[in-house]
Amino acid sequence: MSNQEMIDKGQKYVMNTYGRFPLALVKGRGVYAWDADGKQYIDFCGGIAVDILGHCHEELVKELHRQAQTLWHVSNLYWIQPQIDLAEKLVKISGLDKAFFCNSGAEANEAAFKLARKYHYRHGHPERNEIICFKESFHGRTLAAVAATGQKKYQEGFSPLPAGFVFAEFNNLDSVYDLVTENTAAILVEPIQGESGIHPCEKKFLQGLRKLCDDQGLLLIFDEVQCGMGRTGRFFAFQSFGVKPDVVTMAKGLGGGFPIGAMLAGDQAVKGFEPGDHASTFGGNPLGAAVACKVVELVSESSFLENVDNMGVKLMNGLVKMREPRIVDIRGRGLMLAAEFNCECKQLIALCMQKGLLLVGAGPNAVRFVPPLNIDENEVNRALDLFQDALQDWK
Ligand code: PLP
Repeated sequence: MSNQEMIDKGQKYVMNTYGRFPLALVKGRGVYAWDADGKQYIDFCGGIAVDILGHCHEELVKELHRQAQTLWHVSNLYWIQPQIDLAEKLVKISGLDKAFFCNSGAEANEAAFKLARKYHYRHGHPERNEIICFKESFHGRTLAAVAATGQKKYQEGFSPLPAGFVFAEFNNLDSVYDLVTENTAAILVEPIQGESGIHPCEKKFLQGLRKLCDDQGLLLIFDEVQCGMGRTGRFFAFQSFGVKPDVVTMAKGLGGGFPIGAMLAGDQAVKGFEPGDHASTFGGNPLGAAVACKVVELVSESSFLENVDNMGVKLMNGLVKMREPRIVDIRGRGLMLAAEFNCECKQLIALCMQKGLLLVGAGPNAVRFVPPLNIDENEVNRALDLFQDALQDWK
């Protein structure tokens, strides 16, 4: 089937929920992907920060085959070897205590909301059920995740949303203090806001949140669905801020493209859940857990994380050197970068695609760079050349 034939068929049969580009991708290898007409693209969208080892990484493919020939699926009624191994790896890297597995970022956040409420309920405080979130945040598309997301456009038309989510100003500690009441259970924050434009928390702000949670007995929840898994040059973004949460949620890069999510919790928070409190049929399934184990093994290598830092600096410097007058800010950490423009940049992203560079927006005016984390200098330079080329044609 050609690109156009796939688009026509997709429009006929697939529900119309996505604003898709007119492009059908059929093959991938490393940082490259090909469309149905055989055109090659350098993929700096990476499945929106998911394909952290690129497309069809040899060792992940091998591990998936090995597990597929061993055990596909059993229920969480039983113990599952790759799930236990994955939990052990994540607990050791994070310094937290236990892991719960699910299938996506929204589900990992749902688990965290339920854990926060049950934790206080078990401590005799059912009234402590409110979670302080942040304006411009993004936490997923289930009803509770949308209710926790600080952007009206994702909530419109879905009322009534679950109650118990209030919104403070990002990087403004006073505004958080103003919202704390006897009903507060937890604070939920992305250490780097991703979807709304790659806005990192200030270190002082995260330290302030930690102190507030300690003083008031609140749980500090970090949503690292996008900024975790090595993207900032540390395995967890919180390690680069030196502030440890009580709960961290992950997904996206965890399976390197195979769907899996996780919530990790420290020794106090973890007491919120008892058998029967939460579950997921596919959570920590042998296939996903086996692939994720391999991803974690590769990504946690110090040389791998060093490459993220080095390539991040090269990409950032390359963008700065362009001296493009319409760019008003270039920001981010590691390989989670954004170039913000003084105008909407949808058309620029479409132009990049025509030139053979896949990128994704972040907020209306920013272009996001979230490529595979194992890219090399030549690949960074190639993406920069194509970006510059697109900028020249962008009127
Ligand atoms: N949290 C953050 C920070 C995200 O960026 C996303 C997705 O973009 C989610 C949660 C939701 O993840 P998922 O789409 O896997 O449910």
